[in-house]
Parts: sequence; structure tokens; C-alpha cells
Amino acid sequence: MKIGIVGCAGRMGRMLVVETAKTKGCDIGGGTDVPGGSFVGKDIALIAGLEECGIAIGDDPKALFGEVDAVIDFTTPTATMKHAALAAETGTVLVIGTTGLSADQKAELKQAAQKTAIVFAPNMSVGVNLAFALVEKVAAILDKETADIEIVEMHHKHKVDAPSGTALGLGEAAARGRGVALDDVAVRSRDGHTGAREDGAIGFATLRGGDVVGEHTVIFACDGERIEITHKASSREVFAKGAVRAAKWAFGKDAGLYSMQDILGL
Ligand code: NAD
Repeated sequence: MKIGIVGCAGRMGRMLVVETAKTKGCDIGGGTDVPGGSFVGKDIALIAGLEECGIAIGDDPKALFGEVDAVIDFTTPTATMKHAALAAETGTVLVIGTTGLSADQKAELKQAAQKTAIVFAPNMSVGVNLAFALVEKVAAILDKETADIEIVEMHHKHKVDAPSGTALGLGEAAARGRGVALDDVAVRSRDGHTGAREDGAIGFATLRGGDVVGEHTVIFACDGERIEITHKASSREVFAKGAVRAAKWAFGKDAGLYSMQDILGL
């Protein structure tokens, strides 16, 4: 199958080019980056550190969606929404790793997924998706009188959204386990005289610095003991592997909005 990579000059984009090239049954069908950007026109494989393949990076996503079987998108929320509309228009499979989408943008994604198969996952690693399942289970067992849930995450200094999509995904898993809506209980930051912690709150703390790929810990703080579920990514490769696996899985599937949990059968 032919895979297109939008945002192919980015940190994840380059990784995805390499992963697609080495995955059996997958070929690079093309790629785009931001119109007017310095990478447009350059060889897609060369900028990813591979040997030249003769495919130039484009800036016209419409043409790309017409030529490939699936598109993988790790870009920005605004760009992703344009790509989702094109996927719906052309019936192309779309795998989205972009984080920081608003509630309205997520609702728009659901609309687009009525026309084609879309996989949307704030984190494509197998380990993190396993952590989602574990957190939901633990949160269902430890009620709000028993455990206070706090989520701590750290990422590299270039990351632009906070808390991370994965931290919010872990928060959603915990909220699901407790049968509540995350928006009703989330405390996304604390500063100054905040007052005592409310029972049932799910707190977030964000750290940024250096080249940290992504670290998340969900703490269940009880009286007299503490349970922590931690995931540490040491390479972006795990996200790229998950995304290519998702594209292969979604190819030929009915229209719908899928998650990594569907792909991993969790
Ligand atoms: P990055 O800034 O290195 O790369 C983004 C790329 O998208 C850049 O090359 C940029 O030029 C390009 N881009 C922007 N607008 C575009 C447009 N309109 N058309 C085509 N290309 C466009 O960022 P990154 O570290 O690669 O992360 C990208 C996104 O993926 C972020 O939202 C990040 O949080 C997310 N991410 C998700 C996972 C996951 O597993 N889901 C893992 C890592 C990163």
C-alpha cells in the first residue's frame, strides 16, 4: 500500500518516512510540508537520512490524497483539520497523531470519519495504550474517597501544547474508570493560594526541558500508600511504528473513528 506523509519534514514526519520505507508491504507515496517552507521540493527520503528516492516533498495535500491509500498526519491542529476534510472528500484512510485539538475540532473529526476510516490517537505507542487500559482499571477499583489521581508528564523543550495529549488521554482513561467526565474534574494547573485539593479531582503537572521524548506517570495517592503507573519513551520510533501499523490496519476498514485501543484489541 502507498502511504503519504503530511508534515514529512518534521521530527515525527522524518521518522515516519523511515518507518514506512522499512515496513513490508508499504511504499512511500509522497509527502507534503508547510507551503513555502524550505523543505518543499527536496527529496523526501534524503531529508529523512535515507538514500534519495526521487520523490520531491510537495505542498499540495489535495494532490497527495488523490494518489495514496493512506495518509499519516503528525502536524498541527489547523493543518490536521484541513487534512481530515480532504480524507473525507477522497475516501482516503487517515492516521492522525497530532495533539492539542480543541473539543470543536474533535467533533469535526467525528463528522469526517462518517466518510472514511480515521485513526486518531494522542499516543501511538503500544506501551502507552496498555497504560491507558491499566489506568482505567485501577481508577475503577480505587474510588475518589480512596485515591487522589495526579498525572505528571515531561517532554522536550520544543513541545508547544500542555498538558500533553497523552497526559489528557490518561486523564480521560482515569475519568472513564470512575464514570465521570474529565472536563468536570480536571485541574490542569495550580498556582498561588489554591485551597485544599477537592475529592475526585484529577490533577495535571507539566514539565518541559531538554530532549525528553515523553514521560508520563499516573499517581494514585492513598492514605498510607501510593500506586504509580509510569511510561517512558526513549525513542520516537515507537510512535512511528504504531502509526504505520494503524495505517495498515485501517486500510479497507469501514468508515469510522478508531483509536489505538481498537488496533491493539485492548
Ligand atoms: P514538528 O514541528 O517537528 O513537525 C510538524 C511538521 O508539520 C513540520 O515539519 C511543519 O512544517 C509541518 N506542517 C505544519 N503545517 C503544515 C501544513 N499545513 N501542511 C503540511 N505540513 C505542515 O513536530 P513533531 O514533534 O513532529 O510533532 C508533530 C505533532 O505530533 C505534535 O502535535 C505532537 O504533539 C504530535 N506527536 C504525537 C505523537 C503520537 O504518538 N500521537 C507522538 C509524537 C508527537
